[in-house]
Amino acid sequence: MKKLKKLKKPRKISIKGLKLKAWGAMSRYIRTRDKRCVTCGSGIAEHCGHYLRNGERNAQLGGNALWFDERNFGGQCAACNLYRNGEPTKFAIFLEYKHRHGILQELSDLRNKPKKWTREEIIEVEKKFNERAHNV
Ligand SMILES: [Zn+2]
Repeated sequence: MKKLKKLKKPRKISIKGLKLKAWGAMSRYIRTRDKRCVTCGSGIAEHCGHYLRNGERNAQLGGNALWFDERNFGGQCAACNLYRNGEPTKFAIFLEYKHRHGILQELSDLRNKPKKWTREEIIEVEKKFNERAHNV
C-alpha cells in the first residue's frame, strides 16, 4: 500500500519574528513622521531612536507595556543615535515639549509594567504602523 504523504502544517512565524516585523513597520513610520532628527534638528531621521532603552527588561519580564508605544521613539540621525548615545537629555526635552510635563515618568512606569504581547496584538501593531506610514 502506498504511504500517504503527511501534509506539513504551515509554520507559524515566531513571536520574535512578528516583533521584528512590527518593529520594522513602527521604525519606518517614526522616521517618515519626523523626517528630521528630533535631538539635533539638522540631520535626516535615518534611525528610529529610543528614549528609554528597553532590552534588559524585555529579557527579564518577557515584554512590557512600552514596547510599541510610539511616544518612546523619535527619528534620529546616525550621529545622535549611534555616536552620541541617543542624546538622552535632548530627547527628554523634545518629549516634554511635544507631549507634556509628566511624559518621562509615564514612559518609565510603562517600562516597569510587564505585558505579555499576544501574536494578534503584535500583528495589529504592524498593520497599524504600515497603514500610518502610508498616510504621513
Ligand atoms: Zn541628530
